This record gives sequence, C-alpha cells and structure tokens, in this order.
Amino acid sequence: MSALSNIGRFAPSPTGPLHFGSLVSALASYLDIKKRRGQWLVRVEDIDPPREVPGASATILQQLDAHGLHWDGDVLYQSERLPDYLAALEQLAHKDLTYYCTCNRQRMQTLGGIYDGHCRDLQLADKDSAIRLNVGDTDRGHQQFTDLIMGDYQQSLRTEVGDFALRRRDGLFSYQLAVVVDDHYQGITHIVRGSDLLDSTPRQLYLQQCLGYQRPEYMHLPVALNTDGQKLSKQNHAAALAPGNEAHNLYTALVWLQQQPPAELAYLSVSEILGWGITNWAISKIPSTMGMSAPDRF
Ligand code: GLU
Ligand code: ZN
Repeated sequence: MSALSNIGRFAPSPTGPLHFGSLVSALASYLDIKKRRGQWLVRVEDIDPPREVPGASATILQQLDAHGLHWDGDVLYQSERLPDYLAALEQLAHKDLTYYCTCNRQRMQTLGGIYDGHCRDLQLADKDSAIRLNVGDTDRGHQQFTDLIMGDYQQSLRTEVGDFALRRRDGLFSYQLAVVVDDHYQGITHIVRGSDLLDSTPRQLYLQQCLGYQRPEYMHLPVALNTDGQKLSKQNHAAALAPGNEAHNLYTALVWLQQQPPAELAYLSVSEILGWGITNWAISKIPSTMGMSAPDRF
C-alpha cells in the first residue's frame, strides 16, 4: 500500500442496528473515499461491553453488505487491539503526559464536565485509578482545524475540556484513545462522521500530536434529527433500517445529503445508486446545518 493512498473508514459501535443517521455516515464516508479512489475500511468499536448489544456487530455488517457498502480488507475489532492501546498509554506516560486520578463520579459531577486537574500532582497509584492526559496550558492545549464541511473549528482544551481520561477507573480504554490509535494504525487519511463528534476532534488532534501521528482530514456531517429535533441515535430508539428497502434507503440518504439525485435513480439497484453517488459526490452541496428532519418512516 503506498503511503499516499487515501483511506477512509466507518467505525460503528455495536450498541444496536444501523438507523438512518448511521447509514448517512456510512454512505458519506464510502462515497467520499471512493471518489478519491481510496479504500474504505470498517472498524467495530467494541471496547465498551456494558453498552454493547449481543449480535449488533453482525447485524451492522449484514446491513452494510445489503446496502452494497462493501468494505476493503478485514473488519478490525477494537476488542482485539488492547495491547496497542496499552502501548500508547505507556508512550504517553514515558513522556510524563499522563497521571492517575481517583476522583469519583460525585466529585466529577460537581465539576460540570471540565476536569480541574485535582490529581495532577498527587502521584497516585495505578490501582482503581483513571488515567488522564495532561492537556497543558491554554496555549499548548489550543487546537484548531478546518473541517471540510463545518469550516474553521477551535477549542481550548484547558478551559473547555480539561485533562481527559484515556482509561477509565473500571479499566476500560476511552473512545478518544482507541479511535486515535486505530485511525493511525489503519492509515486513515479521511475521517467522515457525524457532527456529534465535532467537539471530540480537538482532543483527538492533541492526542495525535502527543503520540507523533499524522493528522487526517476531517469532515463532520450535519446530524439527522427526529421530528422532535433530537439527534437520531440508538439511545433514543431511532428505528433500525427495515430489510428490503436498501435502494430506497440509499436514495433517501443521498437526498438528505443534498446530492440532488435524479428521481429515476430511486428505482435502480443498490449498485447503480452507489455508482451515481460516487460519480456525482459533491461535498460543497452538503449543508453545515440541517433544518430538515430525517424521514419518519425510518
Ligand atoms: N464509534 C463511534 C460511534 O459509533 C464513531 C467513532 C468515529 O467515527 O470516530 O459513535
Ligand atoms: Zn482526580
């Protein structure tokens, strides 16, 4: 594989079947990387067992397949990647960028989500501790990037996030750590995902810097809302995509992404719809905010 090849990915958590919002993310990342003549990888983010639903990974993979979203190479499972997450933690500890934290949930709640660095200089022991990353002072922790849809985005990690956890007190690795280690491991050059993750991106950029990784390009999609204006998610029981409607689902997702597919496309096959989608993929048509709701029937 050449170092210059384009690689995209879809990284579902197996907390339930795909719904319309996750199909939009999968489709957009697929079309975008295929337009760039790149490879599209699928990574199952199964490192949070308490949140997982048995059988969900298999269902998601089957749904992707039914929509013609065929991935390149083997699916990567984060549950098989734990030694690399540990190695990354060791690399950060070696640079003196991490520390143990024993703050409990009650204390965290009083902080309103921004950790105050209470344990930073306490030299606590590993046992029953979280591991936090020191985000440095306001200067060092200031992150900026240009999103391909959302434009300029800035965040001060010190004042808006605080030292964040890379390993939780229960021993589970954090999403932020695993996603950064794996995007690097898989050579991902283009990350396309929902804008619910926009405010996680500065943490990931900072981690990439700390670990000496390259920065990929980012594209955050407007999030599909239900008719009550809530984000469609497995948590608020967004309906799973019913089998047998794949062509229609893809067509509706293209409309939702404002790619302006011709009406006749709706009656063609999954592979014809995807072919049209690749040829006509236009990032500039995707709106940065979405007033429109996802269709009820999903
Ligand atoms: N696994 C995450 C989710 O399903 C997405 C991770 C990502 O795209 O960075 O919300
Ligand atoms: Zn603490």
